[in-house]
Amino acid sequence: MSKASQTPVMRQYLAAKAAHADALLLFRMGDFYELFFEDAVVAAKALDLTLTARNKGSDDEIPMAGVPHHAVSGYVQRLIEQGFNVAICEQMADPSKVKGLVPREVVRIATPGIAYDDAGIEARQNHYLAAVEREPSGPYGIAALDLSTGELVACEAADAASALSELVRLDPREVLFAPGAEALARPLQQVRPRVVARTTADAMTIDEADAVLDAQLGAGRALASCASTPARRAASRCVATARACEAGRPLPVARLSFYELGDTLVIDEATQSHLELVRAVDGGERGSLLHEIDATRTAPGARLMRRRLLAPRTGVAEVRRLHDGVELFVAHSRIRSELRQRLDEIGDVERLAVKLALDRALPRDLVALRRSLATLPAVVDALASCPEPDAREALGVEGGASWIDTCPDLYELLGRAVADDPPPRASDGGAVRDGFDAQLDEARELMRGGQRLIVDLEARLREASAIPSLKLRYTRVFGWYIEVTRAHLGKAPKEWRRKQTIATGERFSCDELDALADKLAHAEERAAAREAELFAGLVRDLAVHAERLRAVAARLAAWDVAAALAEVAHREDWTRPEIDDSYELVLEDARHPVVERLASGGRFVPNDVSLGATEGRPRLWLVTGPNMAGKSTLMRQTAIAVILAQMGSFVPARRARVGVVDRVLTRVGASDNLSRGESTFMVEMKETANVLRLARRRSLVVLDEIGRGTSTYDGLAIAWAVAEHLHDTIACRAMFATHYHELTELASTRAPTCENWSVSAREHDGDVVFLHKLQRGAASRSYGVACARLAGVPEPVLARARALLGELERGEALPSGAYASLRSRAVRPQLDLFDASGPTPQPDPHPALETLRAVDVDRVTPLEALQLLASLKKMALGS
Ligand code: ADP
Ligand code: MG
Repeated sequence: MSKASQTPVMRQYLAAKAAHADALLLFRMGDFYELFFEDAVVAAKALDLTLTARNKGSDDEIPMAGVPHHAVSGYVQRLIEQGFNVAICEQMADPSKVKGLVPREVVRIATPGIAYDDAGIEARQNHYLAAVEREPSGPYGIAALDLSTGELVACEAADAASALSELVRLDPREVLFAPGAEALARPLQQVRPRVVARTTADAMTIDEADAVLDAQLGAGRALASCASTPARRAASRCVATARACEAGRPLPVARLSFYELGDTLVIDEATQSHLELVRAVDGGERGSLLHEIDATRTAPGARLMRRRLLAPRTGVAEVRRLHDGVELFVAHSRIRSELRQRLDEIGDVERLAVKLALDRALPRDLVALRRSLATLPAVVDALASCPEPDAREALGVEGGASWIDTCPDLYELLGRAVADDPPPRASDGGAVRDGFDAQLDEARELMRGGQRLIVDLEARLREASAIPSLKLRYTRVFGWYIEVTRAHLGKAPKEWRRKQTIATGERFSCDELDALADKLAHAEERAAAREAELFAGLVRDLAVHAERLRAVAARLAAWDVAAALAEVAHREDWTRPEIDDSYELVLEDARHPVVERLASGGRFVPNDVSLGATEGRPRLWLVTGPNMAGKSTLMRQTAIAVILAQMGSFVPARRARVGVVDRVLTRVGASDNLSRGESTFMVEMKETANVLRLARRRSLVVLDEIGRGTSTYDGLAIAWAVAEHLHDTIACRAMFATHYHELTELASTRAPTCENWSVSAREHDGDVVFLHKLQRGAASRSYGVACARLAGVPEPVLARARALLGELERGEALPSGAYASLRSRAVRPQLDLFDASGPTPQPDPHPALETLRAVDVDRVTPLEALQLLASLKKMALGS
C-alpha cells in the first residue's frame, strides 16, 4: 500500500478490517458509513451504490462507497439477505469534541442468523442461527439460537437423515457446519434455498465448548442442562458466534434447553410440504394449515403456534393437558373472547425483554412494555373468573402459583419514568417524564425558562437602544446574536461587538447576551446528558428483570395458542381427540380443514377412517378411485388430524381417537408431485426408500400414487412390493392410494389387516359425478375416459379411446401390433399376484367396428361426424 493511503484514519480502517476479514466493514465517517477497497466494489454491486474513490485522480485511488447513517438498517438488511456478514464500525466519540483522530470500534456484526434490528426479523416466526457438530463418525449435535428471543435449544440426532429433518423443521437462516457435518449443507439448501450455510474451519473441543457455555449460563450449567457432547458443542458454537457479533455485550440467553427428538412427532420436509403445513403449494402462507389455525393475537403466540405445529408431542399426558387448555376455552367462550381482546393490547414482551438485555430498547419499546404490563391484571381477572376448579392446571399454572407475574414494580417504574408519548430516540429529548428526576427537571426548567429570558432580554435591548425592529436570533453556526437592520445601524451602542455583516444589516453580540447564551447552551447540554444517563439506567434496571418478562411472555403465548385453537375449534366445529398409547387411528366424519374451507357452500363430504396396527385390525388401506375423486385429500386429512391432535389442537372430525404416532411420513408419486418441481423417478424412489427405512410400527405412512413415474409394469411391481413391505414387515398404520387396480388383489390375501377402500364416483349420462364418499372395496373402474370428456376432449377421440379401452380390458392386441395382454400376463406370474384365470380371449373385432359401436351419436356435432367418418374410412382401408 502506498503512503497516501496510510493516513491515520486509513490505518484505523485497515486495523478494523483486518480483525473482521470475513465481513463487509461499514466504517462510520460523520454522517456516512463508508466501505473501502474490495468491500466497496462488492457492496456497490450488491446495493446498487455508486462506486467512487478516495484520493481520486492520484495514483493512490481507493475504491469507496457509502450509505447515509440514518438509512443504514435497510442497507445492512439487504446485505445480510444476500448472505454477507456486516461489521459496523462506529465513532466512539463526538467528532466535534475530539482533537485529532476520532476513536472507532466495531460494535456489532450482523449476519443472516443474527439480525441487525427489527427490520430483519419476522414477528411471527423465530429467527434462528443454527450450528451442527459431529462426533467422529458418531451422532450429530444440533443447536439453534434465536437472539431476538434469547431462546437456545439443542438436540442430538443419530444419523444424517434425522439431523437434516430437524434442521428443516427449525428452518434457520444460517447454519454453521463443523468439520464432519458439512455433507448436510447441500441437501439442506436443496429444500431450503434461502438458508445460508457456512462451514467452520475447526471443531471445538468439549472443554472449550463447556467453558463458553458456563460463562454464559453459569458454572456447571452446561453439563447439567445437556448430557450430549455434540449438542453442547453445537450450542457453544452458537453462543460464541453471537458473542462475537455482539462485541462482548452480555447475551440475553439464560438457559440451554435440550430436547429429545423422540419426544416430538417427526415431520420431515417432504411431509411438511406435501401436507402444506406452513406453506401452500404456491409457496405462500394462504392455503397452508398454519394459516388456517393461527388465530393467535400476539407475535410470541404465533411463534409458539408454528413451533407446535412443526413439532407435535408424543407424550400422552402432555398432549392431553394441552387439550385441557383448549377445551377450557371452548367451554368458556366469554373468557376466551375477553382474553383475546386483552391480548390485542399486549406487545411482543419476549422480544422487548431481549432488547432491554441487549441495550437496544428505544423509548417507544418501553411504552409498549408499559402498555403490555398495564393489561396483565385484566388478563388475570378474566381467567380467575373461570368457575372450573381445574382451570389453573388446564392452563399450565402449577399448584398454588399465581396466574402470572403482573410485574407491578416494573409497571410502576415505567409509569413514573417514561413520558406518555416519547420521541423515537432517547437522544431526541423528552423520553423521560417530568418529575422523575430533580436534576433533569432543573435543566429543563432552565431551557424552558431560557425562552422567556431571551424574550425578556430582547425587550430590554429594544427599549434601551430604541431600535423597534431589533431581534435576538440563533443559528447553529453563530449562536445567539442581535440583528439590526441597516436603517437603525446608527443606534447600535458602542459596547456591542460586531459579529457579521449581512445584506439587510448587521449582527452583533453583547456581554449580557453572551452570558445568557452560555447558560442556555449548558442547560440544553446538561438536560440531554442527564436524560441519556437516566434512560440508560432505566433500561439497565429493567434488563435485570428480563427473565421475569420472558416468563410472562411464555405464559401469555401458551394461553394465546390455547385460546386461538379453541376459537378455531369453536368456529369450525372441531372435536377433542382422545389420545392414548394404543396403535389405533379412528376418525369419524373427518374433514380436510383447508379443502373444506375452500369447498363452497359446505359441500365437503366427511369420511371415516379406521386403522389399527394390531392383530385383527386393518393397518393398511389401499385406496382406489378415479382421478379427482378425493383420494389425496382423504389421506392428507388423516395425516393432518394426527398432527393437529398431537400438537394439542382439536381436530376436524366428529370423533377422533389417536394412538400416539412417532412419525408421519407422506410421499407423493413423481407425476403427482408437480408442486415441488420434481419429476424424476429417482427422487420418488429415494423418498420411498427413506420412508421404508424410517418407518416404525408407531409411524403413520401415507403414500400417494407411488410408482407412477415409470412404465406401467415397473411401477406396478414397485408399488406392489412397497405395499407388501409396509404391511408385512413394518406393520404400521398406512394408507396407499393407487391407480393400479391390480394392487387391490393384495387385500384378498392379507385380510383382515389390509383393506380395500375406494372413493366413489358415478357416471351419469357419460359424465362423472364425484361423490367423494369413501366406500368399502376396490373401485370398479377407472373413469379416465369420462374425465377426458369432462375436460372437453372431442367425441371422435373419446370414441376411439373407449374402443381401445374395451380391447385393452379384454386383453386384446393393440393396433400397433404389440400384445398388451401377453405382456401383462408375462409379468403376472413373476409377481405372483393375480389369480391365474385371465379373461377368455375373444375374436378380434374390426377397429372401425369397435369405434363405431363406441360412438355416442347424440353427442356428436356435425363437424365431428365428418371427422369421424374420415377416420373410420382410414381404419377400414388400413386393415
Ligand atoms: P384424487 O387424489 O383422487 O385425484 P383429490 O384428493 O386431489 O383427488 O381431490 C380433487 C378435488 O376434489 C379436491 O381438490 C377437492 O376440491 C375435491 N374434494 C376432494 N375430497 C373432497 C370431499 N371429501 N368433499 C368435497 N370435495 C372434495
Ligand atoms: Mg391424488
